[in-house]
Amino acid sequence: MTSGGDSPGMNAAIRSVVRACAYYRVSSVGIYRGYEGLIEGDFIELTARSVNNIINKGGTILKSARSAGFRTEEGRAKAYEQLKENEIEAMVVIGGDGSFTGAVIFNEEYDFPVIGIPGTIDNDIFGTSHTLGYDTALNTAVEAIDKIRDTASSHNRLFFVEVMGRDAGFIALNAGVGAGAEEILIPEENLGLDRMLESLKKSRRTGKSSSIVVVAEGDKSGKNVYELAEYVEQNLPEYDVRVSVLGHMQRGGSPSCFDRVLASRLGVKAVELLLDGKTNLMVGLQNNEVISTSIAEAIKGGHSINQELLRVSDIMTT
Ligand code: ATP
Repeated sequence: MTSGGDSPGMNAAIRSVVRACAYYRVSSVGIYRGYEGLIEGDFIELTARSVNNIINKGGTILKSARSAGFRTEEGRAKAYEQLKENEIEAMVVIGGDGSFTGAVIFNEEYDFPVIGIPGTIDNDIFGTSHTLGYDTALNTAVEAIDKIRDTASSHNRLFFVEVMGRDAGFIALNAGVGAGAEEILIPEENLGLDRMLESLKKSRRTGKSSSIVVVAEGDKSGKNVYELAEYVEQNLPEYDVRVSVLGHMQRGGSPSCFDRVLASRLGVKAVELLLDGKTNLMVGLQNNEVISTSIAEAIKGGHSINQELLRVSDIMTT
């Protein structure tokens, strides 16, 4: 199943799980709409051929949903009944930490084998250097910022560009460095509004004709992107300020080659772990090796921001 927010690469992961099952002569069933479809028994038999031509598609053919029902004991009891009735013996959940929390609770209650594949563009899951969809989202954001830069420099404007990341600044920091942003504001570090003003003043003094400030949705300053723009307009009236919110376009699109390969590797590992009798693990990537971490640890542990990259970003804004 795919659960929670969708991310590019989920289809490639479904394909990988189904093909790995076919390879090991295990039958597989897709569950529509995450835990909601599980409770309702909305299943589809999948074969190696049912997942043709989906590796390059964004979104998820199995659809995704948030399920209030699965948060209740009755909902989970119904889900278990559906699995038993359909003779399903194990489950691969592709989703974020909420989906994994649900999987762990379900396993505790029913001893039902589950393996998680991290699928979220935010990259905020411990136990993997990359979540599925993060690389694609990053590339989408950089491409969009490059385009904004063209109009910013034609009009000598300052653009505030909001990227996704309510609790995590991975997209903002990496897309910001990749697109040459003058400032990057993220949820993990309060870089200070005065510092931003100073930096923008310096940019102007040193002859920059346009500026881009990349802001994560959940920036630590507590101000949203419109409030930040207003703050700069009030304090630096010489700037012609504009705002662009990239929004959900970052969640869609054809997955990058990196996400397709990652999804293929994680899907195979997930099936192999289940066939080995393992459960409650999340598969992930560390130093380009496919590894597994206990789901409980993956949920609890934070994925900290790279301090070296923060330093590089500082130096690049000189
Ligand atoms: P994203 O990172 O994109 O938000 P997510 O997997 O974290 O993805 P959530 O909406 O948090 O998305 O969780 C997905 C679903 O997992 C929920 O709709 C709910 O059905 C189930 N879930 C989450 N937390 C719990 C919980 N504590 N108990 C049972 N089920 C849960």
